[in-house]
Amino acid sequence: PKMQVCSVNDLIKNFVRIFENQAFLQGTKVLTDLREVPPLVIDSAQIKQVLLNLCQNALQALGQGGTLTLASSYQADTREIRVDVIDNGPGIPPEDLDKIGTPFYTTKDKGTGLGLSISYAIVDRHKGRVEVDSKVGQGTRFSIYLPVDKQF
Ligand code: ADP
Ligand code: MG
Repeated sequence: PKMQVCSVNDLIKNFVRIFENQAFLQGTKVLTDLREVPPLVIDSAQIKQVLLNLCQNALQALGQGGTLTLASSYQADTREIRVDVIDNGPGIPPEDLDKIGTPFYTTKDKGTGLGLSISYAIVDRHKGRVEVDSKVGQGTRFSIYLPVDKQF
């Protein structure tokens, strides 16, 4: 892994610039809500891959239309940067919540069921964690927490 000091907000902005086109094709709005966050040592290519996996899942869940929001914030008490990927899609039924992220678990005809497990492994390598909050009929939020002080 190539660990480098990086601005998470710049990474999100660069990612959105490319991803927006894909969202536009299916009429999905992409919003960002970026707060001031400290610089962070990460493998930016890998964290970008995590964003791509989560945002692709969100687009696929949304189908036509909908809104995808990427948000960043800093939690000073725990010294963690938090990145949220939020969609207002169909949500994940509670009984499926603990299955997602298991390798090869997919509900899609042509899914690999690997996107989330790879993403969780990448975040784990950054000594971070991922939380999921989902309500059927309302949408889904994946929150990536990345510690600022960890030595790699
Ligand atoms: P794949 O996308 O190939 O199915 P993933 O590991 O990326 O594999 O996702 C696993 C499963 O988690 C998906 O098949 C889907 O059921 C569920 N999922 C992930 N993200 C979302 C989301 N934003 N909204 C609804 N379901 C989701
Ligand atoms: Mg996926």
